[in-house]
Amino acid sequence: MNTQASTEVLICGAGAAGLTLAIDLARRGVPARLIDKLPAPFAGSRGKGIQPRTQEVFEDLGVLDRMVAAGGLYPPQRLHGADGTQADAQEIALAPPTAEEPYRTPLMVPQFRTEAVLRERLAELGGVVEYGRELTGFDQDAEGVTATMAGPDGIETIRCRYLAGGDGGRSFVRRALGIGFPGQTLGVRAIVADIQLDGLSRDAWHRSGEGDMSRQIGFCPLPRTDLFQLQAPIPLEGEVDLSAAGLQAFVDDRWPAGGLTVRGVAWASAYRMNARLADRYRVGRVLLMGDAAHIHPPTGGQGLNTSLQDAYNLGWKLAAVLSGAPDALLDTYEAERRPIAAGMLGLAAGLLDKARRGDVKRGREVHQLDLGYRFSSLSLPAERPEDALQPGDRAPDGLLRGANGRPVRLFDLFAGPHWTLIARAVDPARLPAPRPGLRLHGVGADGAFQDPGGALGATYGLADGELVLVRPDGHVAALVAATDGARLEAYLAGVGLAPIQAPRARAA
Ligand SMILES: Cc1cc2nc3c(=O)[nH]c(=O)nc-3n(C[C@H](O)[C@H](O)[C@H](O)COP(=O)(O)OP(=O)(O)OC[C@H]3O[C@@H](n4cnc5c(N)ncnc54)[C@H](O)[C@@H]3O)c2cc1C
Repeated sequence: MNTQASTEVLICGAGAAGLTLAIDLARRGVPARLIDKLPAPFAGSRGKGIQPRTQEVFEDLGVLDRMVAAGGLYPPQRLHGADGTQADAQEIALAPPTAEEPYRTPLMVPQFRTEAVLRERLAELGGVVEYGRELTGFDQDAEGVTATMAGPDGIETIRCRYLAGGDGGRSFVRRALGIGFPGQTLGVRAIVADIQLDGLSRDAWHRSGEGDMSRQIGFCPLPRTDLFQLQAPIPLEGEVDLSAAGLQAFVDDRWPAGGLTVRGVAWASAYRMNARLADRYRVGRVLLMGDAAHIHPPTGGQGLNTSLQDAYNLGWKLAAVLSGAPDALLDTYEAERRPIAAGMLGLAAGLLDKARRGDVKRGREVHQLDLGYRFSSLSLPAERPEDALQPGDRAPDGLLRGANGRPVRLFDLFAGPHWTLIARAVDPARLPAPRPGLRLHGVGADGAFQDPGGALGATYGLADGELVLVRPDGHVAALVAATDGARLEAYLAGVGLAPIQAPRARAA
């Protein structure tokens, strides 16, 4: 049977990137369909590190506490020597929260749990994942994309305004567009498997063979499950037996003290590490995100986080363009996210080199809190010292006091699909007119909020008579003086934020 349907956005691939985009569009009321060729949700733990910046994104999407409850903190590493010695080390930087950075420690959540929480959120917003539907072809014209998918009811043709390809490292969408995916194969092949294992405690990530890649093996207890994630490099060529018996033989050979029993295998895979970056993220009405646009080694736990944040950057832009914002806004998606992926590729490859030597220490460089878009055309130039907060930077959290006396976090003001404009001691006559999609807050003696702790004054460097504009994805867009109203107004128009015009009174 061949059926026809239409929607605004078709999202191909219900991994972390596709799910995040579907949630972001659903909370903006944009009709979208999310398809995946798998018959059922992916069951593996592979991307288990949730970085602090992603935790901020999860807070905005309304799933942070559920994510924390679905996972836990990284356990200490326990290095087992060939001579039976054991040494513990905390290789993941655990930093206490600050007012500006409420989350400073990576979380560990198995990827199947992360995706389950995202699916739950999507369902709350009225969305579903359509499993068992495979994108098999598409064509685009000036108005939209016509896509074909094979599913349980046969072939379906769907017409949409945009197609988002979040279909993983072997992306059909990327290949169909003929987009190059240059990079390198890193000469490392590894096993990753979720196993039931007897013989090791669950209070540490157990490793051995550090410094000699051919002997390395690690068992990480996956929080709130009875599983360990086994990770180990393997020879570049040759068959690998991923059954329980095969993994038992593998473990017996590698684990110095012996005595471990593999009781079951929930999921297992052998893969080659690559570092590759798509030449383009956009061709007309088709966009790439996540692993479809960049792949890299798992070292540093960056892939899922970067994929999800691609979608978080894309969601508000797609929604804005669909509501009439200039199409050029969508070009800023590639302009902003591709350099971030390029930097992350270098980081993950560097960490892989360190891991080869047995060094698995991770610090702030993997937290993604310092990533920003200063270079972007969406960052309104400002005369500020290099080390001060700049347009493009992540907008820090901080505490204000509401006029009724209660504490209010800046992140509470930013949370949701809108833009946020905060004016510090600005003459109301100089404020931009209210408009849909923009929340305006006054701070100062006569404002709705006070800034007793210097959240805006010290952290943002905002003086009396100045405004800060924050994007829907939590980056500073502009830091301007109220006297610069024309520049601010032009910026707002460029991103589709225009005041509503009152209907003209009809002549009698
Ligand atoms: C061992 C290992 C450890 C890792 N550890 C980490 C970590 O700690 N932290 C981290 O951030 N990342 C980690 N990663 C990386 C992370 O798993 C990926 O970056 C992440 O899954 C990418 O998400 P995605 O949504 O872009 O793609 P995917 O998760 O690959 O999802 C793509 C989806 O598209 C579907 N699809 C493909 N083609 C079609 C089609 N034609 N039609 C319909 N559907 C289609 C697929 O079925 C799939 O469900 C790790 C990866 C590995 C292998």
